[in-house]
Amino acid sequence: MSSKEHRVGGGALACSFCGEVKKAKAGLVAGPGVYICDRCVAKARSQGLVEGTGDSCSFCTRSGRPNWGVGSPGESRPRICDACLGMSEHVLAGDQPG
Ligand SMILES: [Zn+2]
Ligand SMILES: [Zn+2]
Repeated sequence: MSSKEHRVGGGALACSFCGEVKKAKAGLVAGPGVYICDRCVAKARSQGLVEGTGDSCSFCTRSGRPNWGVGSPGESRPRICDACLGMSEHVLAGDQPG
């Protein structure tokens, strides 16, 4: 019988917005195949969310909400909406239950 080794590469993950690689999940909030880092959460809050882009949120897939992303509106870039941004702030602040 051959045994397969499971290699766990330290769980390195990259922010889908700025591409910054984090070695652990700390400082990253995960969505469905998308990640946002603490810096981008802060940047989104300081730059402000854009309304009426027609883009859907990469985290909750809802469209028609104010959202933020690094690309231009309409580009296939990850976006985060106001609700998910608020949730991410709570997660990064350690307010998550458990
Ligand atoms: Zn980032
Ligand atoms: Zn959302």
